[in-house]
Amino acid sequence: MHLVTRFAPSPTGPLHLGHAFSALTAWELARAQGGTFLLRIEDIDRARSRREWEAAIYDDLAWLGLDWPGPVLRQSERIPAYRAALEILWRRGLLYPCTCNRRDIRAAASAPQEGDAPPMGPDGLVYPGTCKGRPATGAMPHDVALRLHMDRAMAETGPLSFEEHTAADHCGQVAVDPAAAVAEIGDVVLARRDMATSYHLSVVVDDAHQAITDVVRGRDLFEATAIHVVLQALLGLPVPRYHHHRLIRDEAGKRLAKRDDARAIALYRAEGLRPGDVRAMVGL
Ligand code: GLU
Ligand code: ZN
Repeated sequence: MHLVTRFAPSPTGPLHLGHAFSALTAWELARAQGGTFLLRIEDIDRARSRREWEAAIYDDLAWLGLDWPGPVLRQSERIPAYRAALEILWRRGLLYPCTCNRRDIRAAASAPQEGDAPPMGPDGLVYPGTCKGRPATGAMPHDVALRLHMDRAMAETGPLSFEEHTAADHCGQVAVDPAAAVAEIGDVVLARRDMATSYHLSVVVDDAHQAITDVVRGRDLFEATAIHVVLQALLGLPVPRYHHHRLIRDEAGKRLAKRDDARAIALYRAEGLRPGDVRAMVGL
């Protein structure tokens, strides 16, 4: 089968060494297998995304020696596709509206219970279920966050799994256990009030839309993959192979984040470094 992979940055800041590693790893996987490398701009966060950062992404990746076929898919142009997927879930009674803010969730989650620390999921605190009983019939509301009924979802799908490739010579099946998904992931947000979708929903819809066979991304998204596999099962979408790669860390051992502009590729370029130097810095 023809391999298709992608690099899917959000244009909310400069690309840094961690992005370079991710993009190079995906591009080289495609090249090694005679496959296709796609670029996708994940700009659903309209408040933080900037056209300048998108232009900088094209510049930096081209400088690194990467190429990709056009047109580049931009998630901000795909909102109707995400709404259609949400409608399917809504009509099946798998979503409910939620009006909690972060503070509400913190307060409800840490209300004295059995004394255990509130569980943390891939998106932070596991949602304590405050809005779970809210009516979720009639037309799907557009002005409110929508959460997935994880228990109902897992009752529909049963146990799931995905194929994880940790290295070229090592792969295995990762199980998504229904009880664990309910307890450790919980009712994640699939549509944020301010963006009509969420990272989890749009990444799943678009990986299927672009016929991605192999998702290459950082280890920090490994736990979120269970959410994606649940959504793929609910929406009848294929499950790609996943390759979660090591994270690039700074000298203190902390993984690089968007705010680590000191490690921006553009800065190294401006200092006169060559693409080969950047490859060496990330251990390629
Ligand atoms: N836009 C996401 C990020 O910047 C992409 C994650 C993914 O590859 O699934 O981390
Ligand atoms: Zn709520």
